Amino acid sequence: KGVFEMEMVLRNFFLFLSKNKTLNKSAKKWGLKLGAKQVIPGVTIESAIEAVEKLNVQGLACTVDHLGEFVFNREEAIESADYCVRTLEAIANSGVNCNLSLKLTQLGLDIDRNLCRDNMKRILETAKKHNIFVRIDMEDYSHLDATLDILSELRREYTNVGTVIQAYLYRAERDVNDLKGVSLRLVKGAYKESPEVAIQDKEKVDENYLAIIKQHLLSGSYTAIASHDHNIIDKVKQFAEENDIPKTQFEFQMLYNFRTDLQLSIAKEGYTVRIYVPFGNDWYGYFMRRLAERPQNVAFAARGLLK
Ligand code: FAD
Repeated sequence: KGVFEMEMVLRNFFLFLSKNKTLNKSAKKWGLKLGAKQVIPGVTIESAIEAVEKLNVQGLACTVDHLGEFVFNREEAIESADYCVRTLEAIANSGVNCNLSLKLTQLGLDIDRNLCRDNMKRILETAKKHNIFVRIDMEDYSHLDATLDILSELRREYTNVGTVIQAYLYRAERDVNDLKGVSLRLVKGAYKESPEVAIQDKEKVDENYLAIIKQHLLSGSYTAIASHDHNIIDKVKQFAEENDIPKTQFEFQMLYNFRTDLQLSIAKEGYTVRIYVPFGNDWYGYFMRRLAERPQNVAFAARGLLK
């Protein structure tokens, strides 16, 4: 029980830090510090593409994410969209096997929804030209409805776009049902949410996670299972086999430099494994959420500090 309580204290501490806007802003000037290099290959597009090339050679597909949160004005939001367009062009020019992941707050969701939607359209137009899929990451609960509204608007014009549903939310099953036929990344959920909207018990989150994965697979929809949890992964493989779900209808996703042995062994079995490769100078929030997920990650980062 003591260990569990300590884990909760650490988790809340790092989630609290992840939302600190002053530290977030300052961290952009520090370069990759505090061991962040362990989980983020670099700050430039070139460093991301280089990391992707190395992963592709090992049989792993990728998705890159130009890190960015807390965008405060229209100029920053437009700049961020420009950067996404440039990233898509770099993917196309280098010929790597790679998608794009992004966050709508990065594109101005908190400033003006229309601006955010127009930024997305610009990005999707370029992505379509190069046949690249774009995944809208899911952020905290306060952005969920707006994200789903924008997705549904975009889906009227584009098919190369999907989003993420978080299993810790009570409403996950309903959202997955509404999104039948849409490519979804399914995750446990990374933010601190209130008991009014989110399951707090880890085991129950796992149960709900498996339930929504099965639900989306059975509806015939493309499913990305993004988890480092070997128990979940094993159960998904077994479920797919028992229900004749082809390997082309789903993929596993893991974060850059997390459980690399597991990434490779699953890929060797013939499953698609996609690695989420974050890059950029706005690394602080992403890094703090990774520390919150597992106290062991603190030791992992600390080893990076010594390098
Ligand atoms: P956990 O519940 O953290 O771990 C379960 C068990 O797996 C552990 O007890 C341990 O036995 C094993 N394990 C886990 N990690 C390790 C490790 N590093 N080494 C050894 N054993 C380990 N969240 C969002 O809210 N929105 C998003 O858009 C989003 N996108 C994501 C994209 C990707 C590709 C991934 C992988 C995650 C994403 N997440 C996102 C985060 C996700 O919601 C979880 O917070 C995160 O993945 C931790 O949960 P888990 O399923 O990996 O397993």
